[in-house]
Amino acid sequence: MKYIGAHVSAAGGVENAPENAHEIGATAFALFTKNQRRWSAKPLTDKNITEFKKNCQKLGFSLEAVLPHDSYLINIGHPDPQKLQKSRKAFLDEFRRCEQLGIRMINFHPGSHLNLISEQECLKMNAETINWTLKQTDHVIAVIENTAGQGTNMGYLFEHLAEIIDHVKDKARVGVCIDTAHAYAAGYDISTHEGFQATVEEFDRKIGLEFLKGMHLNDSKKELGSRVDRHETLGNGFIGWAPFKCIMQDERFDGIPLILETPEPEGWAEEIRELRKLMDEQ
Ligand SMILES: [Zn+2]
Ligand SMILES: [Zn+2]
Repeated sequence: MKYIGAHVSAAGGVENAPENAHEIGATAFALFTKNQRRWSAKPLTDKNITEFKKNCQKLGFSLEAVLPHDSYLINIGHPDPQKLQKSRKAFLDEFRRCEQLGIRMINFHPGSHLNLISEQECLKMNAETINWTLKQTDHVIAVIENTAGQGTNMGYLFEHLAEIIDHVKDKARVGVCIDTAHAYAAGYDISTHEGFQATVEEFDRKIGLEFLKGMHLNDSKKELGSRVDRHETLGNGFIGWAPFKCIMQDERFDGIPLILETPEPEGWAEEIRELRKLMDEQ
């Protein structure tokens, strides 16, 4: 079973996200459970929670096909103790909101060292934040996303993700989401069948495919190894269709949310149709 969808709007309340996903023919979706550009958020109401669950059920979304994204303001590896504390509080709140909604996992980017601590120290700080958060929550899985490596952002190498996971105590509650545009911008040449397969093999060797909990399907506006994070519509960027055909035809990518974060929401229904077509292509 392929779960294919997009990062849809939750404007007006999280309960609207399933409907927005259903309208584009999705079987998976991502969302923000709060305004991603603000630190604080109103708590979810009982109505938000019951309507969200009801809509997911009514429209046939399995809760394992829902992969929320945390706020972009959060830096879970922040070198400044006070600012780290602010990020940790917001991060914990994101986890608790997911638990209230019955969602199984949450996706986030590793933090940035801001040239104030070493990469090693930053990776450890990331893991400590995850440990701190898992201890105070019950079941939500922390899903670390690979990054393009802009600025001092960690997580652009599989080694970084492996190192964070290594320091996380509860291995059952940590996983990885691979963003194709970020991988390509970070220097993993997935633009050919062979290149994609070699990258998956490297992921399996350095991290382990059992940790793969989701994927973000994006083409890249920027060149291989550019370390710049700019998503492009599928087929219109430097990556092309090859890896997406591999993903659609390979059962190792079954049963996890495959989420578009491409820049034209009006095109998502068509991109999902194209992805489904690739499943049967020779
Ligand atoms: Zn992404
Ligand atoms: Zn991105």
